[in-house]
Amino acid sequence: MYRPTIGLEIHAELKTKTKMFCDSANDSDESRPNVNICPVCLAHPGTLPVINREAVRQVLRLGTAVGGRLADFTEFDRKSYFYPDIPKGYQISQYEHPLVEGGELAGVALTRVHLEEDTARSIHAGGKSLVDFNRAGIPLMELVTEPVIHDAETAGRFARELQLLLRTLGAGDANLEKGEMRIEANVSVSKEEGKFGTKVEVKNINSFRSVERAIAYEIKRQTKLLEEGGTVSQETRGWNEAKQETFHQRFKEGSADYRYFPEPDLPKLILSELPEFSHEMLRASLPELPWERRARYVRDCALKESDAAYLGASLERATFFDAVATALGGDVQLLALAANYVISDLAGIYAKIGNENLAPLDAGAFAKLIRLVATLKLSSRGAKDTLALMVERGGDPEDIAKEHGLLQVHDAEALGSVVDAVIAEEAKAVGEYKGGKQASLQYLVGKAMKESKGAGNPQELQKLLIERLG
Ligand code: ADP
Ligand code: MG
Repeated sequence: MYRPTIGLEIHAELKTKTKMFCDSANDSDESRPNVNICPVCLAHPGTLPVINREAVRQVLRLGTAVGGRLADFTEFDRKSYFYPDIPKGYQISQYEHPLVEGGELAGVALTRVHLEEDTARSIHAGGKSLVDFNRAGIPLMELVTEPVIHDAETAGRFARELQLLLRTLGAGDANLEKGEMRIEANVSVSKEEGKFGTKVEVKNINSFRSVERAIAYEIKRQTKLLEEGGTVSQETRGWNEAKQETFHQRFKEGSADYRYFPEPDLPKLILSELPEFSHEMLRASLPELPWERRARYVRDCALKESDAAYLGASLERATFFDAVATALGGDVQLLALAANYVISDLAGIYAKIGNENLAPLDAGAFAKLIRLVATLKLSSRGAKDTLALMVERGGDPEDIAKEHGLLQVHDAEALGSVVDAVIAEEAKAVGEYKGGKQASLQYLVGKAMKESKGAGNPQELQKLLIERLG
């Protein structure tokens, strides 16, 4: 048996107004090439970088959230290499003194979190290579985990949690498909307890699902290779989404090749001298964190952990649910009912549509729907149909239910005629019930429910049937 080991390296662009070392706009939505540029991010000779405070602050906030050790002394380093997308011939990064060391997220120990600048974007099209410098110099956070992950699912969970944390902090949008978050998975397998195998780095992974699939693929590939007597070579592989397999890109260069040395054009930072970066200020700036929110759901709404995880899995969903909770005045029973409707009925509707768009759904209207269910004005069937219509076109649940005849009829007279009709039609079952067969009563209630098109309250219908049948 070969045991897999995985360590992740994740880059995330930070959502600051300006770039890491100049005042060019940081706008990942800009589609025109080479608009957000200046002599600094184009690496014109004689220009000088200036540190973006907000980028430093965001990394320190994230470091605080994950319980990492924040640096006191920190500096930037030059990482030298040649590529058309790195006009200076080096990237300003951090090496010996990262902003954050240690910490833990989703049960995975972190090695470090540091700050660097993004590269330009190379575009290869029509036999030509073009470079767009809009991305050059965008603040890029790099987070490295310890090699402590042993299965693909944990790696996927970690990456999702990091995205959620970045969004919760407002530090970044971290959309994978936009390249705002890039995940590299280091994978090795080993037979010997406590010993690591040779690791392979997998890049170009474009979704969380692909993170899991690429890792699973590598574990299989390496295991098979070793079982057949081969050896794993240390290399960088890409993920081919179409073929669902990894492929060789290049053999890995050692870190000494980069000739790191402290960036002479930037000041070294002593963070304790900067009051806005004090641990107290950073801590006070944190919103409710994803795991705190989930714990609150379990505690205040009496939810299972998996249900709390579902509700807290995206900011939109959590914000919606929190607004519903407020509208329900924090009543635990109503909250549990609301959670249940979000997790099963609403999720079912979105699964059918193939996209979760909470926009047309007003939290107040949803809360009202829950109250209609709780007061038995809507059956669960009626609530489902009403909810589907609310998702489709918004609106007030009571109006929608009324319009579609979905409200439960409590009115004894209206239900009375339904019951009379059923008794007239079902002479056989009526006879059986009168002869002592209890199951026939349930059958008659069912018929009456159907007759009332689900609008009849079953308890009420049963009461009326018993009254009439003596
Ligand atoms: P390198 O010097 O090649 O960059 P590092 O030691 O800096 O390697 O680790 C880079 C990443 O690879 C980290 O996320 C780390 O957890 C992971 N890693 C290191 N060794 C292994 C291994 N044997 N198997 C899987 N991942 C590993
Ligand atoms: Mg390294």
